[in-house]
Amino acid sequence: MIPVAEPQITEKDIHMVNDALQSGWISSAGKYLDLFEEQWATYCCMPYGIAVSNGSVALDVAISLLNLQPGDEVIMPTFTIISPAQSVVRAGGVPVLVDSNPNTWQMDATQLESKITNRTKAILVVHIYGHPADMDKVQEVAKKYNLIVIEDAAEAHGAEYKGRKCGGLGDISTFSFYANKLITTGEGGMVLVRSPEMAERARSLRNLCFQKKQRFLHDELGYNFRLTNPQAAMGVSQIERVDDIVCRKRDIAAKYNELLDGTKGISLPAEEPWAKNVFWVYGILLDENAGNTAAQLAELLRNRDIETRPFFLGMHEQPIFRNMGLFSGESYPVAEHLARRGLYIPSGLTITEEQIAQVVNAVKGCLS
Ligand SMILES: *Cc1c(COP(=O)(O)O)cnc(C)c1O
Repeated sequence: MIPVAEPQITEKDIHMVNDALQSGWISSAGKYLDLFEEQWATYCCMPYGIAVSNGSVALDVAISLLNLQPGDEVIMPTFTIISPAQSVVRAGGVPVLVDSNPNTWQMDATQLESKITNRTKAILVVHIYGHPADMDKVQEVAKKYNLIVIEDAAEAHGAEYKGRKCGGLGDISTFSFYANKLITTGEGGMVLVRSPEMAERARSLRNLCFQKKQRFLHDELGYNFRLTNPQAAMGVSQIERVDDIVCRKRDIAAKYNELLDGTKGISLPAEEPWAKNVFWVYGILLDENAGNTAAQLAELLRNRDIETRPFFLGMHEQPIFRNMGLFSGESYPVAEHLARRGLYIPSGLTITEEQIAQVVNAVKGCLS
């Protein structure tokens, strides 16, 4: 079976994790944590980084920073992972959904303004599958209505919008360092913020809101969202080669683009002129008249030893939210099409040229 993705752990990663272990700093203090936060924030051109346990809780922290009142609204794409929407719901807010652009699969920023109400507090963009969202339009609307912009950049390490790094464009951004992400700490995440007040509050929320002067006196409910020093050590090692990883991902995508170009019945991932796509995954989208659904193609490919993953199912189609009375009667045709017709094929860092050719032959064989 050719796996859809596999983490690549180097000798350097192992050496640095060992070093952290041997230092005795195995919990949530230590030099690697400081380095990891500093280096990743710098890479993204943001002033403050707060490392946390994973990308989902990074979003919990980001949403907490908004101080939502019950019923306050956060606009976000419907076509994404559940993490952003569940963070908003848990904080007492309401996710307000936007459909996708059919070409880039990113949130269609031209629809943003029609979603604004007097309860809107923030726009949360997700850079889906490694391609940046259309940030100028997002910023324009945010500025006009005085909204906070949060970027979920969990799939977009090193991606760029008009030459600027994703995760360095909004007021707050979040990353995941899960094993299948572009760079990994096994489990891990980070919140990046611009304001020193937000940075301090995020650090406090991460660590049970202990106080500096009187540790066991609490003004607010926090969480234990801490990352460990050995995990951060792996992160520091991974940051060293992030640009190589981005190059490798782009090379894999270029190879697929070349071999799949012109194949009838599918469309390939976009890269807008203003975008640097890091192709976190390599998605293909079946035409409406292609016969097979993505699920059927996945099954055929599995029979040929090729692993795939389906695209996201929109938030408006999730039973958990429907049962809560959210999104009733709403439909988002592009996201629904993507969910049924899209899948991604193997593009892990360890894939070989032969395997890429094998995947391409199998895809072509299954389509005809
Ligand atoms: C992976 C991912 C997350 C969640 O990160 P975890 O570390 O798995 O909790 C959040 N948002 C997006 C867009 C992701 O791809």
